[in-house]
Amino acid sequence: MSYLVAKYSPRSMKIIDGKAVAEEMKNSMKQEVLEYQKSTGRVPHLAAILVGNNPASKAYVGNKVRSCNQVGFKSTLIKLEETVSQDDLMKEIEKLNQDPDVDGFIVQLPLPKHIDEVKVTLAIDYRKDVDGFHPVNFGRMAQGLPCYLPATPYGITILLERYNIETAGKHVVVVGRSNIVGTPISILLSRKSKMGDATVTLTHSKTKNLHRILLDADIIIAAIGIPGFVKEDMVKQGAVVIDVGINRVEDESHQGPSKLVGDVDYEHVKNKCSFITPVPGGVGPMTVMGLMKNTFKSATKEIYP
Ligand code: NAD
Repeated sequence: MSYLVAKYSPRSMKIIDGKAVAEEMKNSMKQEVLEYQKSTGRVPHLAAILVGNNPASKAYVGNKVRSCNQVGFKSTLIKLEETVSQDDLMKEIEKLNQDPDVDGFIVQLPLPKHIDEVKVTLAIDYRKDVDGFHPVNFGRMAQGLPCYLPATPYGITILLERYNIETAGKHVVVVGRSNIVGTPISILLSRKSKMGDATVTLTHSKTKNLHRILLDADIIIAAIGIPGFVKEDMVKQGAVVIDVGINRVEDESHQGPSKLVGDVDYEHVKNKCSFITPVPGGVGPMTVMGLMKNTFKSATKEIYP
């Protein structure tokens, strides 16, 4: 396992390679899965419900299924029509809750407007909630109890750890307060724990003086959904920048119809950073690994015996 040493030198910017870390993790997980299979006679099983034809959602679920194949998990994909009723969706969730062969499952977000996302989150048995969105897991996370950590924040903490990026005593500024990224990562990094003990400022669309707050950040975590929002003049020399955003924009070079960019103006910001995640290939692959790790923990009953 190769650990990369973090030196806080602005002249030695390092790209945090989430894709490579995820590949490394998949290889070691594959061995663990083989051992689990030998001793139990079964394989971990992740299921996903995909509603409708959103191309991004289809791509995300496709990545998850591919990762299951790579590590030796069984996977089941349940595709439902865009017009599925709330009741029918709830019935599918209940079937997965009751299926003893399924260790964990996700309902890919976003859902069509007529579906109540909160009801969906609450309907998932928290013992199978490998996305870590259920309030039981969220509450346990906030109190530092064993739980399924939300997949993206989990992946971010693994990346920080792999690159030996110290969080204790650092000022972390999180931009965006969603329930799945901004709020949970702000809790995780401020907790009294190994990848915590940071002083965290959680900012959002109503924050005043965001520019000034960002300039004081040792670590910036951007999860807003606005392409290139974090600019060079908002970043302190030597800062660590974690870009969670995934935005599809026109390709200005006209070499293709569109391309993926993050919430950070990568080309201009990167030279000021000690570390930065690219988009794609940074946080995205680690979100999938967070999900894989949670599913394996469910299979081995590490969290909820
Ligand atoms: P969201 O879309 O639910 O909410 C956006 C947040 O940004 C809100 O809290 C809002 O207050 C804040 N915001 C909006 N405008 C702002 C402004 N001008 N200044 C400060 N804050 C502002 O958030 P999300 O679901 O966390 O998604 C954010 C981005 O992260 C999206 O691009 C999404 O696709 C991406 N994402 C990536 C991954 C991954 O695995 N890499 C996982 C989840 C989400």
